[in-house]
Amino acid sequence: MLSKRHGNILLIGLGGLGSAAAMALSGQGLARLRVADADTVALSNLPRQSLYSLGELGHLKVEAGSRFLTGLDPGLVIEPLPARLETVEAIADAARGMDLIIDATDNFPTRFAANDAALATGIPLVHGAATAWRGQLMTILPGETACLRCLFGGPPETAGGTCLDQGILAPLAAEIGWRMALEAASLVAGREASCQNRLLTVEIQSGRRRWIPLRRREQCPLCSPRPSPPGPPPLPVAPLPHPPEKTPGPTP
Ligand SMILES: [Zn+2]
Repeated sequence: MLSKRHGNILLIGLGGLGSAAAMALSGQGLARLRVADADTVALSNLPRQSLYSLGELGHLKVEAGSRFLTGLDPGLVIEPLPARLETVEAIADAARGMDLIIDATDNFPTRFAANDAALATGIPLVHGAATAWRGQLMTILPGETACLRCLFGGPPETAGGTCLDQGILAPLAAEIGWRMALEAASLVAGREASCQNRLLTVEIQSGRRRWIPLRRREQCPLCSPRPSPPGPPPLPVAPLPHPPEKTPGPTP
């Protein structure tokens, strides 16, 4: 634990990933956690969203979650933001004064908006996603490491392939959420994060973990020093953004 509280984090999404990340961040010496989500607690959330209880059905997640987190870490300043941050402008505005953004959302447009907001503001971003049995994680340092658009260009044109329609296993949400918190805590403490220029993929059933090396793409439509000419994103995209198979990095 840090001896003095410091670090301000914007956490977007208090679902399965966000609940796990918020719990893991509490008690770690963080100064301020701004949590953004417009949803209310539903019965189906309870098995994997540990911030909420049966008595809080219908309550705003940011309010119920803030109560739980304050109980875990009374010294942590929680700022509930009952809003659905879906645009670059909204995310950049909510990230004002923050040192880091954690994207724990459940849809592709918002993930790319978070990526673009991070690049626009220069604030580091920890990206996590999970669907059914598979999840992924990467940390983006604007202007230094590969961004989401370096890998995938843009969000898929068709809907589907999200945890909204495929579900997500509770242990997978917990692992990705806790790993996101670890990434964030490392950066706030001034240490290197483990998923800078690396994409971690987690297959929860097989137990397989892969660290895939990344690097910034010269033709990235967003962060390239030499922007591509106007036109559609050059990369094909998959329902759940997974990059082409490459030589895996070391596994634990
Ligand atoms: Zn990029």
